[in-house]
Amino acid sequence: MLFSKMFIPTSKETPKDAVLKSHQFLIRAGFIHQIGSGIYNFLPLGKKVLDKISGVVRKEMNQSGAQEIVMGFVTPADIWKQSARYEKYGKELLRFKDRKENEFVLGPTHEESVTEIIKSYVKSYKQLPLNLYQLHLKFRDELRPRFGLMRAREFVMKDAYSFHADKQDLEREFANMEKTYRNIFTSLGLDFRVVEADSGAIGGSGSKEFVVLADCGEDTIVICEECEYAANIEATKRFKRTEPENPPKASFAKFYTPGVGTIEKLADFFKVDEFFTIKAVVRKAIFDSSSGKEPELVYFFLRGDDELEMTKALNAINKMGADALELVDASVGEIENVGLKPGFIGPYALKNITQARYIVFDSDLKDERDLICGANEADYHFVGVDLSSFEGLVYEDIAMVKPGHQCPHCKGKLGYKKGIEVGHIFKLGQKYSQALGAVFLDKDGKNMPFEMGCYGIGVSRLLPAILEQKSDEKGCVWTKASAPFDLSIIISNTKDVEQNRFAHTIYEDLQGAGVDVLLDERDLRFGAKMADFELIGSRYALIVGKSLAGGSVELIDRQNLQKQDLKIEGLFEEIVAILKRD
Ligand code: ATP
Ligand code: MG
Repeated sequence: MLFSKMFIPTSKETPKDAVLKSHQFLIRAGFIHQIGSGIYNFLPLGKKVLDKISGVVRKEMNQSGAQEIVMGFVTPADIWKQSARYEKYGKELLRFKDRKENEFVLGPTHEESVTEIIKSYVKSYKQLPLNLYQLHLKFRDELRPRFGLMRAREFVMKDAYSFHADKQDLEREFANMEKTYRNIFTSLGLDFRVVEADSGAIGGSGSKEFVVLADCGEDTIVICEECEYAANIEATKRFKRTEPENPPKASFAKFYTPGVGTIEKLADFFKVDEFFTIKAVVRKAIFDSSSGKEPELVYFFLRGDDELEMTKALNAINKMGADALELVDASVGEIENVGLKPGFIGPYALKNITQARYIVFDSDLKDERDLICGANEADYHFVGVDLSSFEGLVYEDIAMVKPGHQCPHCKGKLGYKKGIEVGHIFKLGQKYSQALGAVFLDKDGKNMPFEMGCYGIGVSRLLPAILEQKSDEKGCVWTKASAPFDLSIIISNTKDVEQNRFAHTIYEDLQGAGVDVLLDERDLRFGAKMADFELIGSRYALIVGKSLAGGSVELIDRQNLQKQDLKIEGLFEEIVAILKRD
């Protein structure tokens, strides 16, 4: 391509709302153009990178045995009603009607659609397994679209869905997809981690996320310093905590603790480690509007120095059958209304006082003694609390794992890292096949719902993810597989006949050999052309300048901006070799 002919609207101005460098560079370098909140147009450079990334994804998916399809972006609401997600998905789902009053949604994901395809054609176990995927638009009416392509409302996803006759075959494909995803992100040149992810109330190891390490990432992942263990904070487990010295040995008794309404004051009052105190966290569970259920207070107990992890907490009550959508703050008034004293809440008689249906204890407290907790009476606490003396307590892992806690596998030290979720693989089981009545005849001639898996990659999110990990302060740094061009040839002085002739010749030779090359032959200052190279981020720049007269040109590596002189004899072969190597 000739720079002068290509539509690359670069600009020096940083968009007001762009806080991340990837967002700033993608706009300033003319990759994307914003047309609405969370809605972006891809300009030629952006489309080029999107195609390169898509190409890597497509190649690996095809190699894994999956087959590409394209499903309608506009989806009839009917199938979303059948799966009950029409109501449950909340406001991220854009619902609308056509001129005949038929209801539709803009697909935020396509489990229902793909299940309809399989339901129509697959009747026997002999037609299984199948894995169908697409690279297509999604729409999610995100509450806070932000960071450019990172959290957009309309975005490109690679979504794959697999169908199986039994659980073992689903396991096999899940492993196959994990391997395929590892290949994809490795080919893209990314530093990433595969982490155990939240699998909702079902639990188990049914879901893994692929996270690109970057400081700006919205996801916190927990990594073991000793072994391979890595998990999203929402799903991280930990080894049972080690008890500090001097547990407060005491017989069970009620103590007058005036004004001691926080864990800090409580530990201080009794001169004990917060570890031995019990913290109560009261939240309000919100239910789906169609369920007719009113918001309800739910109760969690943890060690005083632990924090409640909200996703774990929600999963815990849903495992008890709550079917809640989210947990929100409960006000002091709401807590007092049920007869409790904030700051003095404890497990004793809690059920009787509040009629609570959902009370969960963190598993680290299981059958622990020598504890101190609120007495459900203003200004009083109990000491010498022995939880093993209670019957029927529900214990679940609901605490947030903190740096320094121990790995559940090897007891190694756990630490935090920030990352960007770029992929997610999930065992769905029979959730959608059952809801939509998608069945096949198994080996024994019985009707069985399909076992399903789903596998997503945020293809358009990968552009900012790559940039957040690789870029420097001057502009975009891409990876080998994702860069818009392998090489920019910059003519230092376009008035110089020799420089022009030489640059055009090597440009045509390289282009003929299939190298993706951009010739910057614009009649501009050299500095401006260099700045554009640094902003756009071709992998290398070849500077054809004054040194040409002495028989050499300069090659700049965009990754580290290191320069090397190359002789003009054998230049073509040398460049081809360098581009292939890195
Ligand atoms: P997140 O937690 O970031 O909202 P998610 O769990 O909702 O992601 P999935 O439903 O698993 O995402 O979708 C698969 C992939 O699509 C994600 O791993 C992510 O890379 C990408 N993705 C999800 N939401 C967006 C968005 N709003 N903009 C761009 N990419 C997205
Ligand atoms: Mg989301």
